[in-house]
Amino acid sequence: MIEASCHCGSVRFAVEAAPGDVNDCNCSICRRYGTLWAYYQRPQVRFAVGNGPTDNYVWGHRVVEFHRCRTCGCVTHWSAVDRSYQRMGVNARLMPPEVLAAIPVSHFDGAAM
Ligand SMILES: [Zn+2]
Repeated sequence: MIEASCHCGSVRFAVEAAPGDVNDCNCSICRRYGTLWAYYQRPQVRFAVGNGPTDNYVWGHRVVEFHRCRTCGCVTHWSAVDRSYQRMGVNARLMPPEVLAAIPVSHFDGAAM
């Protein structure tokens, strides 16, 4: 079980297992956020009961919502606007540093897409 939280602790989630890798994407939004994405299916990510609200940002083709803690601003996850799409990404930078340090980083050339 890996627990992750934003800086203020208002948004917390847990996953059963570490991802096989995390994705450092250089697209126009990820390079600005500085996120490292770990991918899961929606049911695999358990958000804590009583989590604070998130704001989200939707742009371009409007298929993905990027969520951030409304209090401290940490980017927590993205999910598809279409709720039937099960894949989602969580920001692995919110995981404990010793967990993140053991996960290989893949570089995705999102800027080229
Ligand atoms: Zn927060």
